[in-house]
Amino acid sequence: MAALFGAIADDFTGATDLAGLLARSGLPVCLRLGVPSHPVAAEQASPFEIIALKCRTLPAAEAVAEARAALAWLRSVGARRFYWKYCSTFDSTREGNIGPVAEALMADLGIGQTLYCPAFPENGRSIFMGHLFVGEQLLSESPMKDHPLTPMRDSSLVRLLGPQVKGAVGLANRHVVAQGPQALKARLDELYHRQLAHIIVDAVEEEDLVTIATAAVDMLLITGGSALAAPLPRLYLERGLMDRASNFFERPSVEGGQIVLSGSCSAMTRQQVAHYLEEAESLRLDPLSLQADGVEPALQWLRARQPAAAKIIYATAEPEEVRAAQQQLGAARAGHLVEDALARLAQEAFRMGIRRFVVAGGESSGAVAKALGVTRLAIGCEIAPGVPWTYAEVAGETVALALKSGNFGSADFFHEAFQLLEAA
Ligand code: ADP
Repeated sequence: MAALFGAIADDFTGATDLAGLLARSGLPVCLRLGVPSHPVAAEQASPFEIIALKCRTLPAAEAVAEARAALAWLRSVGARRFYWKYCSTFDSTREGNIGPVAEALMADLGIGQTLYCPAFPENGRSIFMGHLFVGEQLLSESPMKDHPLTPMRDSSLVRLLGPQVKGAVGLANRHVVAQGPQALKARLDELYHRQLAHIIVDAVEEEDLVTIATAAVDMLLITGGSALAAPLPRLYLERGLMDRASNFFERPSVEGGQIVLSGSCSAMTRQQVAHYLEEAESLRLDPLSLQADGVEPALQWLRARQPAAAKIIYATAEPEEVRAAQQQLGAARAGHLVEDALARLAQEAFRMGIRRFVVAGGESSGAVAKALGVTRLAIGCEIAPGVPWTYAEVAGETVALALKSGNFGSADFFHEAFQLLEAA
């Protein structure tokens, strides 16, 4: 089966989030970490292929080059519909990279218009009159205003996108969306004839996303957060673009021990770790001890555990502890010490026969996936919104990985994750 849908995501956990929403359909979804360096035969591709890049804050020219390479690869495995996925808070700088990448993909695909809809009503992200809200706050008044890399100081997506693109930016507002797919299509056509290439589309409710996806199902390129893609599998099935019979995903059953590795210090992860400490054997990693003694003591602790026992190794700490470590070591060095330790521990866990990994933290997940040599993930059932179980081949063995970004999941996430795998 060749690919039908090819997505390019600007970061790893965002790609996982998109993959999880698409996999709700029960259809096979494949997530590749970076543009595959080897050719893949179209028949080996999944109907839904996603390439996770790490290009959100790269210089625009580099992000564009990576995204174009990803597009070329997706076309080579047969994809005919394309999706540019970015964050539901439109994380970008004045220069990009949302607009420059979209414009480059449009040029490569030979199209004159695309739409932009980062709304994710289930997570409180809505767009009205082109303004993005996080819960009841304007984006520019939400905590995103202080983001260290992509501070969002405006809420108007029209104004934010304008300086990022050469073409003109327009708006299809909620009143049009509320009239249904035909009205929205007519509005997009009208804007196209007025030479408006980049259209922000309002969405407040889940239903709005269904309307937009229905209107856009034949567009070669759509851009947005993950939520706009969620209705697409059903629409493709209804239109006969793919059939369910030949696209059944059978979840592998994964035997072997378990471990939680946590390098996230986000508020929700801190709760999850505290909760799991009540039932699991645990080891705390501290960047200062890692600097002084290396990772060997932690490896020894791990080797002395039974693979099947519930266990967690965590660097998760309160903000003041993180600050103290960062002051002594520098933020980058502290982060690398933790990520390198988690990577080595994941390799050791695999060597011990552990096959079920839960990893907390976006960067931490990337480090663990890389250490295990994972380049391709098949997407299984969702543990929490945005966090599915995934399956990878590591040295000829199937491994189950749950890769959770900081604030996802509820307090009992780690326990729930393993329980779900056992029930599968
Ligand atoms: P999140 O998804 O919550 O942002 P990430 O893994 O992406 O989590 O980022 C957390 C960063 O913090 C990683 O670079 C990690 O190595 C670093 N880190 C984890 N624990 C500590 C700690 N105790 N002190 C300093 N830095 C830490």
